[in-house]
Amino acid sequence: MNVEQDLAKLRRLNSMVNGPLKLVINEVLAVTPLVIDWINVQTSGSAVCRYKPDNVRQYEVRYQFGNIGNLVHELTHVAVNESYNLDFINYPNRTSIDLPDRELDILGRCKNEDLRQTKQMSQSMNTAKSDILMRIKGWTDASTELSPAQKSDISNKLIYGMINPHKESDTVLNQILVWLFEWGFPVTGQYINKPVVNALYEELSTAVKTAHLERKNSRLRNKIREK
Ligand SMILES: [Zn+2]
Repeated sequence: MNVEQDLAKLRRLNSMVNGPLKLVINEVLAVTPLVIDWINVQTSGSAVCRYKPDNVRQYEVRYQFGNIGNLVHELTHVAVNESYNLDFINYPNRTSIDLPDRELDILGRCKNEDLRQTKQMSQSMNTAKSDILMRIKGWTDASTELSPAQKSDISNKLIYGMINPHKESDTVLNQILVWLFEWGFPVTGQYINKPVVNALYEELSTAVKTAHLERKNSRLRNKIREK
């Protein structure tokens, strides 16, 4: 597996899906030209920004080649940073903050990102994002259609998001939506009682769409400001 094959797979997926999943896949495909370095890793992953003069931003993305959910997660980090320009924070914050200047290494990577993130995050937004993750976890736990392994994969990812909601809420929601689709959900066809996993899929889709629209609106606001 290589990056080109994974991006082709993502484009293929884009042509197969509808609704919020399609919005997100479109959004992450749109930021791929900003990625100038793709690095294969065995576990986890990351997206790092290289800040260049004249407001130019480029990215290095580490992900597990062949793993589309992981790829969408890391590209969501890029989309988030492009939307809010708040050092990868997953929501807008328009209060004025006394912020230390970025200290950059030779490649333009921010060395004081943690400090800047701490200054720019909002406790109330962290709580709001965590509440969403918690609600999705409730639907996951209640779902009888997911296997134990699938449940624990989703739960672990949601808990990861709850630990750092300012950095990892939109990312894990998008990743889990990709997983559910790859696992063949929602359940289609006739049923008497609505499958719980379908309710999970709908709740998650709504959360994903809301976060997507918030990012999109923020990008539009930034564009207007730049003019
Ligand atoms: Zn992440």
